[in-house]
Amino acid sequence: MAEVRLQNVEKAFGNLTVIPDMTLTVPDGSFTVLVGPSGCGKSTLLRIISGLEMPTKGEVLIGGQDVTLEEPSDRGISMVFQSYALYPHMTVAQNIDFGLRLAKTPAEERERRVAEAARILALEDFLDRKPAQLSGGQRQRVAIGRSIVRQPGVFLFDEPLSNLDAALRTQMRVELAQLHQSLDATMIYVTHDQVEAMTLADQIVVMNKGRIEQVGAPMDLYDHPETEFVAGFIGSPR
Ligand code: ADP
Ligand code: MG
Repeated sequence: MAEVRLQNVEKAFGNLTVIPDMTLTVPDGSFTVLVGPSGCGKSTLLRIISGLEMPTKGEVLIGGQDVTLEEPSDRGISMVFQSYALYPHMTVAQNIDFGLRLAKTPAEERERRVAEAARILALEDFLDRKPAQLSGGQRQRVAIGRSIVRQPGVFLFDEPLSNLDAALRTQMRVELAQLHQSLDATMIYVTHDQVEAMTLADQIVVMNKGRIEQVGAPMDLYDHPETEFVAGFIGSPR
């Protein structure tokens, strides 16, 4: 587990300042959901936390450590994307195991962790299948499995369910909540689905044009939106 803190983070791409000045604390073990319109900088923020992008100013702290200059692989985080690219020629077990094999984790330990991930994600019966033989929801679970085995303290999710149909999204939402409970990890989750935000989050961060409009518990934002923008986004009647 680990707290994530952004300290006066700025991100510009050339002349375009996408995030002017962001300070945000994501509490240790929380399920923090980022919401906001398309293009407001949610993915960029996740990429800065993961180390895939460098901030142009400011610091990223994970578990109190300044990791701004650390490689993504040294940050103790794992990122799950919307387009979960699995290796088509590998089995489910091999896909889940892949990162551990690269990291030269001892074979016994790898086997133990893959079995544990398969148990948590209810993939035990599918370990020998290839991705093409799985449903969309099962494939997304395999992608999450690849993250779990690395035992990160922080999970970053970038709209992981948006390619799934409505019924599957509902099911995966329940599974993600259970996953958060069983792993006891910090989760930062981007979505534009209000229901996902309201049901999964213990903290919602509403973003607009690279800035934070409001941070709070779901019912706080719903009952006491501080701006019209938040009210419109969370859907509280005014
Ligand atoms: P969101 O995930 O909230 O939809 P993004 O973080 O993807 O938003 O993008 C925020 C803004 O930054 C957009 O205007 C986007 O075009 C711009 N942007 C993102 N990545 C780059 C990049 N590598 N180069 C230039 N502009 C980028
Ligand atoms: Mg995005």
